[in-house]
Parts: sequence; structure tokens; C-alpha cells
Amino acid sequence: MERINPFNNALKQLKESIAYLGLDEEYYRRLSTPEHIIEHPVTIVMDSGESKTFQGYRVQFNNALGPYKGGIRFHPLANIEEVKTLAFLMALKCAVVNIPMGGGKGGVQVNPKNLSAEELERLSRAWVKVFFHDIGPDRDIPAPDMYTNPQIMAWMADEYSKLAGHYTPASFTGKPVDKDGSEGREFATSQGGFYALTELVKKMGMQTGKIRVVIQGFGNVGYHAARILHEHGYKVVAVSDSRGGIYVEQGFNPDHVMQAKRERGVLVNAYCHGTVCDNIEHKKITNKELLELECDILIPAALENQITEKNADKIKARAVVELANGAITPEADTILDQKRIPVVPDVLANAGGVVVSYFEWQQNLENKKWTERKVLNKLEKIIKKEFNNIWIISRDKKVNLRTAAFILGIGRLVKAIKR
Ligand code: GLU
Repeated sequence: MERINPFNNALKQLKESIAYLGLDEEYYRRLSTPEHIIEHPVTIVMDSGESKTFQGYRVQFNNALGPYKGGIRFHPLANIEEVKTLAFLMALKCAVVNIPMGGGKGGVQVNPKNLSAEELERLSRAWVKVFFHDIGPDRDIPAPDMYTNPQIMAWMADEYSKLAGHYTPASFTGKPVDKDGSEGREFATSQGGFYALTELVKKMGMQTGKIRVVIQGFGNVGYHAARILHEHGYKVVAVSDSRGGIYVEQGFNPDHVMQAKRERGVLVNAYCHGTVCDNIEHKKITNKELLELECDILIPAALENQITEKNADKIKARAVVELANGAITPEADTILDQKRIPVVPDVLANAGGVVVSYFEWQQNLENKKWTERKVLNKLEKIIKKEFNNIWIISRDKKVNLRTAAFILGIGRLVKAIKR
């Protein structure tokens, strides 16, 4: 993966929107400075009996709107610059969808694929031990992110409760539904992206039933996006994982691919081997080729910095929905603008996850359980409303949707700081 300093990219966009809003430098200084940068080594005993230390992070960017909120990622390339950027994006994201939460993000520099289930549990619990005094239901509420999942959140909430001396489910969100997680949280990021995409499709006058979608990534977010779109009559024509992808011109059912991937482990070798799609012609493609496919909607749902100045010119999609955080660099944004390809930015496209996390936190605090229908109805209202707010700003000020989202979010943050 290309390493681009992600924080500088975010700051460039922040500077631009501060200028649009006519605010003075002081707000730039305030909003570009994280409130707390916390780093602790996290040490665990490995199955071999040896101890091993991993670097752990939590950045609490801004809490003007409410307690810090944001995921924890377990990734070999996790580093403080990345966590800082993602924490900033969380502050902005919560403001864009108008929920009373601040921005935070955490991580551990580790390859979780090299850990046994027991080591993973020890690492999750150890993270909570070292960050215990920094987090909590009214201070900072972590959630899943890349390579962390509901099971990890369950271990973490359990560890937090033990240390606090009382059951504290509101300390973490994204927990399994039977462990006080919220209905709908598992696929909320993709569902929110779907609501945003539906609005965009309407504005662009595209006809459902004929819309060809290409998705990069087949993890939790990419898979559920593919599934939801297929269920709603969209033609999913390509998906990929880190090792490559498949392209089927007439579209396919993502569940067949998921089933095959589960059986065989790797998506590219899995598809069309003993599954119902045996007779469908398909092509194996690289991730690079996938991004450059001709289609109506391209959804990067994997890593950051996937569309850069190097490949933006080759994008042939009619629109892009940025489900992965930071998938498009500012230089690429400019090129896509010139090509008149609208981009629904990450801070709105993937905000469904944190919105339903907020619902989970509310349910935990009130000791209530909402139905999936209630959760999704509330999510739909929020995403559609803010999509339209951003759309109007973008038309009025003649800026792209990302700048419009920044203007909306930064405007709300500044208002909160002033009060
Ligand atoms: N990690 C997700 C994100 O980047 C969700 C955060 C949360 O639910 O707090 O938005």
C-alpha cells in the first residue's frame, strides 16, 4: 500500500473549509490539534509462554459535541499519524450526521492474522487494562474498525466491566446482539452507504435495475454493501479482496461468492468452483483493474489511499461512494471533479456505523432493546437528511460533496466550540 501522510491530507481539506466559512485561523489551530494523544505499550503472554509487546494507541481528537467516539483497529501498519487522521475524521463524521458524539480512534500495531484466538482475547483485554482510565461511557466509547469485530468488543466490554466493578455495556459499541449490541450494527456501515447511494442515484437520474456496481473489498463492509445492493436490484458486477477480484458482466449474487470464499478462503480461487454459479462466465481481475472498470457506481470499501493522482484519471465509474475511510486522496478528488464524477465522501458514506453505535450506546444507557426496524428507520432518516443538506451546500457554493460535507460538519463543530 502506498504510504501518504494522511493527516496532511485531512488538514488541507480542513483549511479549505475554514476559508469557505470565513472563520479565522484560531479555529484552524483548534480543529487541527488533537486534544489527547495517548500511546501505551500493550504486553501479552503468547501461547508459547513468551511475552510480546505491541504498540497501542488512542487519539481523542475533539469532544465539543459529546464523548469521544471511534473504532480501534488491529493492523500491522497502524501508526499514530493514521490514528490521528481517523480520529479527526470521526469528529467530523459525527458532526456531519449531527449526533452528540466527539471524535476518537484507537489501534494496535499488530497482524491479528498471526494470533491465535486466545492471544487475540488476551490482546483485547490488555488494551482495556492499559487504556482503562482514558475511556468510559461518558468519556470515550470505542467500537470495531479494521480487523476488530463484535467478539473483540464483547471481550473489551467485559474487561472494562470487571475493572469498573460493575456491568458497563455502554463502554464499547459494536458488541454482539446477544451481548447488548444493537440490532443492525453489524451491517450498519453498509446500510448507511446504501441510503446515501440511493439518494445520489435519484439526483443523477439513474434507473434502478440497470445500475452496475463495482466494490473493492469483501470484508464486513464490502460484503454487506454487495449483499444489500443485490437485494435491491442493483447489478453487482465485480468484488475483490486483498488478493484480487472477480468480474461477471451480467452481475452475480454476492452470497454465492461469500459461501465459496468461506469454503476456500480466497475469493479469486473460490468463485465458481462447485458453487451454483459454475456456468457463469467470469474473469479474474487485480484490484488495480477493478478500480478502473467501466460501471455506474464504484465503491472502495477496503483500505485508504486507493484512488490517487496515479489512477484517478482512469476511473470510468459515473459516481463513487467512499465506504472506506480516506480511500480517495485530495489530488484524486480534484481529478474526479474535473471528470465530473461525483463522490459521496467517507464522512457521510460510512457514517452508518457510528450512527448505529450511538443508538447502541443510548440503548445500553437506558437498558432498552430497539427492533431492527426502528434502528434502520432512524438511520435512514439521518443519512438521507444529511445527504440532502450536503447536496444543497454543494449546489449553492459550487463545491464538491466532500467540501460541502466539511463545510456542514466544521460549521457544527465551530458552533459547539463557541457555546
Ligand atoms: N470504525 C467505524 C468508523 O470508522 C465506527 C466507529 C464507531 O462505531 O464508533 O466510523
